[in-house]
Amino acid sequence: MALEWEAGRLDSDLEGVALDTLAVRAGQHRTPEAEHGEAMFLTSSYVFRTAADAAARFAGDVPGNVYSRYTNPTVRAFEERIAAMEGAEQAVATSTGMSAILTLVMSQCSAGDHVLVSRSVFGSTISLMEKYFKRFGVEVDYPPLSDLSAWEAACKPNTKLFFVESPSNPLAELVDIAALAEIAHARGALLAVDNCFCTPALQRPLSLGADIVMHSATKYIDGQGRAMGGVLAGRAELMKEAVGFLRTAGPTLSPFNAWIFLKGLETLRIRMQAHCTSAQALAEWLEGQAGIERVYYAGLQSHPQHELAKRQQRAFGAVVSFEVEGGKDAAWRFIDATRVVSITTNLGDTKTTIAHPATTSHGRLSPQERANAGIKDNLVRLAVGLEDLEDLKADLARGLAAL
Ligand SMILES: *Cc1c(COP(=O)(O)O)cnc(C)c1O
Repeated sequence: MALEWEAGRLDSDLEGVALDTLAVRAGQHRTPEAEHGEAMFLTSSYVFRTAADAAARFAGDVPGNVYSRYTNPTVRAFEERIAAMEGAEQAVATSTGMSAILTLVMSQCSAGDHVLVSRSVFGSTISLMEKYFKRFGVEVDYPPLSDLSAWEAACKPNTKLFFVESPSNPLAELVDIAALAEIAHARGALLAVDNCFCTPALQRPLSLGADIVMHSATKYIDGQGRAMGGVLAGRAELMKEAVGFLRTAGPTLSPFNAWIFLKGLETLRIRMQAHCTSAQALAEWLEGQAGIERVYYAGLQSHPQHELAKRQQRAFGAVVSFEVEGGKDAAWRFIDATRVVSITTNLGDTKTTIAHPATTSHGRLSPQERANAGIKDNLVRLAVGLEDLEDLKADLARGLAAL
């Protein structure tokens, strides 16, 4: 039975609705089946009514799907939803967070351009810049994240792009995004923000003046450690370039993963709220424990950028790092004594993870580079999940007892 499409009441009217409503409903365009949940289009290509129809769609004269490397309805639904949540004109989904960064630089930069990347970014981001983009004639420098005058001083006439993570991993350092956007724009450069740690539930960089926001959807957007993906969002004119690169080079998001992320976005804000509530409680608790030298969490009064974090973010995130008394051995003893949390460097999962940055995520840096990044041998990073708070405390108490 062929179904007749009756336009009308099947899609929600989202004019003027708030973030929580967008998270649940934006981007969904129901098919003639009138499905309530989002449809998953597992198809690599699309059919045409006639040869002339095929020609018109290939030529771009008529809108419509051609091939899933170019467009896919489930991927598009995810792109529309995240764009709505970030307050962007358009979003472009990618196969991983790293391919989102690849797409960003390939679409916005050319040989001879200069890029500024905050010093404490994700390790693979630095490798991508150092090992690959430099080979193609893109210059890269790394100013310290929060030092605005260092960003000004690092600018050159050919500076094209600023790239930051705020808050940073693992030490929860912030940059004043609005102030940095002004510096970038005064130099004719774009500001891109990796918003992985906050998600649009906690921070919307575009509303603070950033030009492009980037995510590893692998983290909190999925939120349950199942699928890899990434996304860029921003003005249509910037995203057009990203779409061009993506369609040609091909690090496209799978529709199956897009569907997982669509469902992840629906619960994102309440998950983030729960993650942050537990992280705040654990950070405060850890700060009062014998054996803990220092806790890094922007929700603590002791954090030097606590006021900025309150202004810029809706809450303080779920990554809590702390230094234990002693060195590497003490940090390892602490980690090994836990029995509930997972020893892994991933984050953004319902499951709490614990890691030793100096010998894992930052293990390839020289001791001097590690010192510059503020990563000490006694540092432990916790990415707080959704388990019972008292169970997590009891588990960390095992770590404390092992010191
Ligand atoms: C994980 C992560 C990335 C890379 O994302 P993948 O999906 O693993 O490719 C980039 N930035 C940050 C801050 C991350 O945590």
